[in-house]
Amino acid sequence: MIKIYNTLTRKKQEFKPQKNQEIKMYTCGVTVYDDCHIGHARSLYIFEVIRKYLKYRGFKVDFIRNITDIDDKIINKARQWSKDKNISLEEGFEEVRKTYIDSYYQDLESLKIPKADIEPKATENIPEMIKFAQGLIAKDIAYEKQGNVYFSVRKFKDYGKLSGKKIDDLLSSVRIEEDPLKEDPLDFALWKAAKENEPSWQSPWGKGRPGWHIECSVMSQKYLKTDTLDIHGGGRDLVFPHHENEIAQSEALTGKPFANFWIHHGLLTINGQKMAKSLGNFYTIKDVINKYPADILKIFYLQAHYSSPVDFSWEKMEEAKSAYERIYLLVNKLKKMSLPACETKIGGIEEIRAQFQESMDDDFNTPKALAVLFELVNMTNKLLETEDSQSEIKLGKIVNLMTVITDVFGFTFPEIDSGSMDNEKISELINLRLKLRKEKKFAEADKIRKELENKGVILEDTKDGTEWRRKL
Ligand SMILES: [Zn+2]
Repeated sequence: MIKIYNTLTRKKQEFKPQKNQEIKMYTCGVTVYDDCHIGHARSLYIFEVIRKYLKYRGFKVDFIRNITDIDDKIINKARQWSKDKNISLEEGFEEVRKTYIDSYYQDLESLKIPKADIEPKATENIPEMIKFAQGLIAKDIAYEKQGNVYFSVRKFKDYGKLSGKKIDDLLSSVRIEEDPLKEDPLDFALWKAAKENEPSWQSPWGKGRPGWHIECSVMSQKYLKTDTLDIHGGGRDLVFPHHENEIAQSEALTGKPFANFWIHHGLLTINGQKMAKSLGNFYTIKDVINKYPADILKIFYLQAHYSSPVDFSWEKMEEAKSAYERIYLLVNKLKKMSLPACETKIGGIEEIRAQFQESMDDDFNTPKALAVLFELVNMTNKLLETEDSQSEIKLGKIVNLMTVITDVFGFTFPEIDSGSMDNEKISELINLRLKLRKEKKFAEADKIRKELENKGVILEDTKDGTEWRRKL
């Protein structure tokens, strides 16, 4: 039984999709006006682990993640670019969109996180958004004012059920965009009339563009082909108003629950501070991936439960790196061995599999599941040292289980390329070093070890000779 903490009910609940083994899952994707930062990476990764784990548990998962490619922030940047580059606002808009959609896909690639099944773009679904807003007007829960369409928050009686906010407290407790056209300050825009030169689309209310919230309602329901999603996910900062508004407009239109499970991940801070360009502590995915392979960043994320906040620091990345090295070395060692396949269940190993599953079934408790993986690593290292007659069969089983776990975690164990030195040259230097050591020329031998280390090659002297590996 899988249990998930549901923001909507504020409880850990048994997870069941509407259809037996089929899950309809949607998460809010990026807004393409800048390079993605490591908070985005956490979101992308967490939902990938959840998706992979649900697949491992036998579900078919339809997973949609949108791209918000029309939004105030994008238009602001387009204004800047059009000025700087002396191009039209429309051209600037296209350039901003294209640049940051490309950047996002580069990031996914370097993080080794697969795309969702479909990644729809807001600008490619405008007719559906118009229809959605028309439907709400027809139900008298939305109204048009001078080319804008607003949702009447007070007409949706369940408003606030996700965030726990009371409608009468909202005016004093949250910042509300002032807009004299709104009938009630709480109302939010489904459709915005175009300002001069802005990118816009023709609608029954004149030229304009969709509001942010309506994008997600429309794309999730359209591409998952359902009014009710099994899982809707996003960052904790999206609970209010974004997700609250998604619920209000979708349920007002269909009369059905919009999503049965709401999963929200905690946010990321840097050395205890909010990440901000003005504070100089803003790290893009590219900044981190230039320094560390994706697997190491993944270990860092797994060490915290998805719902908790997580604090990033370079020291923690170094810790994650040492932890990763233990798995990496073992995996490489096992790769070189040819191990028998075996059907029988072996005690100890099956228990570890059960522990992994228990941890992940319990609201995707990755810190526990990661600890289970390290337990498996320790057990395997011990086994490699003993000359147990069954050890090959056991190792075969261990490799199977390790593959299951590391697949769910999305580790890729890349070959590390540390530059110019090829294997032949390395062997040559190692042999020379051994020769020097035999001749007791230790200082010279040590020079070679240092030279190799500078090239990213680490030597380890074992009873069977000198082994080497490339530094991560
Ligand atoms: Zn959204």
